[in-house]
Amino acid sequence: MAQADLIINNGRIIDPANNIDFTGSVAVSNGTIQAVGTDLNIQAARVFDATGCLITPGLIDCHVHCYEHATPLGINPDESCLSRGVTTVVDAGSSGESTFPGLKKFIAEKSHTRVLCFLHIVQHGLASSGCSSGAPGGEIDSLNQVNVEACVKCIEANRDMIVGVKVRLSETIANDGKNEEEAYRRSLEASKRAGVPLMVHHTLSTVPTQSDGKSSTLCCPKDMRTGDIYTHTFHAYKSTILDEKTNTIFPDVLDASKRGVLFDVGHGQGSFSWKVVEICAKANFWPDIIGTDMHTGNNDGPVYDLPLVMSKFLHTGMPLVDIIKATTYTPARAIKWSNSIGSLTVGKTADITVLKIDEVDIDLEDSQSQLRKISKLIKPVAVWKAARRFEITNPKHFPNLYARANNAPEWHKIVIRDEISPNELIPSCDLVEIPPV
Ligand SMILES: [Zn+2]
Repeated sequence: MAQADLIINNGRIIDPANNIDFTGSVAVSNGTIQAVGTDLNIQAARVFDATGCLITPGLIDCHVHCYEHATPLGINPDESCLSRGVTTVVDAGSSGESTFPGLKKFIAEKSHTRVLCFLHIVQHGLASSGCSSGAPGGEIDSLNQVNVEACVKCIEANRDMIVGVKVRLSETIANDGKNEEEAYRRSLEASKRAGVPLMVHHTLSTVPTQSDGKSSTLCCPKDMRTGDIYTHTFHAYKSTILDEKTNTIFPDVLDASKRGVLFDVGHGQGSFSWKVVEICAKANFWPDIIGTDMHTGNNDGPVYDLPLVMSKFLHTGMPLVDIIKATTYTPARAIKWSNSIGSLTVGKTADITVLKIDEVDIDLEDSQSQLRKISKLIKPVAVWKAARRFEITNPKHFPNLYARANNAPEWHKIVIRDEISPNELIPSCDLVEIPPV
């Protein structure tokens, strides 16, 4: 009988890269996937029983901010991601050309989580930037540091870690919008020259979502190309993907999706609206990539962790296999890493996540504290990164009353929303303790 170091038995294996969806076992040897099947004749030193669970490739969070201590938004990737089942994170522009060496030396090289990144088009990245809707001012207040040459050079020298370019388009971080279009133009140029995708944050922006068909100004997503990533897709502020007069998805957004522009969730502190997702769900418009935009302003609510954001899409009707695909195979392909991660292909690095779907009855908040009652919760049970097992932790509770109280005032700024203000609902909401796995 063949031998293995580890065998994970009797789980529902979902591996969209290989079109696998059956109940079976995954065997691991020498740090790599040895075999996947329904009836493996393999003896292993360690056995993990995954009865009643899902076995998936190690989850990939394509949008986090993990430049801890060097940027206000930076979380610790091992504490907030790996311990929740995420084996690879992609930092979304916390660093630019001049601050990238620190992200590599102090975060990527010191974390158990695999840390890749989109390089900010601005040389100093998000060194002093918080969220665009907070205090005024931001990284594009001047165009002096929006440097195509520097960005391309840095990518070319660090292709083992940099997978794309990032730009944030918001009026308040770009000298009252005056620099937005030019920064966008330079980002498109830099990513084209470096041959990598561009991830665009597009909220409360002067750059139009829908073109008028006449003017020559750049639009977003119209001027994005196949393989580029539009993030914060389901926010409800100005620059939403919905026409607020008709509550339908703008034609330019549907066209972009057809052209192969990828839509990322980027939940964040402000960019996930139950209402917007529900309207999109009715139109069968789902995210290609489920990234959290995890940072210090949301890791204790309303984001909590990637499995929780996945649960929100399960609640709104996205098929489970598509949810797994949007957190494994699609992000791996988007960043051109699908040869190494995002699948359970035999011979590849053994990044594996075991998840469980619990029956629950809890209120869950969106970014503006609007609530929905969810009945199914995706929870991490076990995780292996390069065949090494790491401990799982859980959020303290959902929903977080304090985060909700903080975010509820944002309700008045959103243009697509529920009838009832969440301020009226906050006192009636109970804290739910999440039992450990
Ligand atoms: Zn972000």
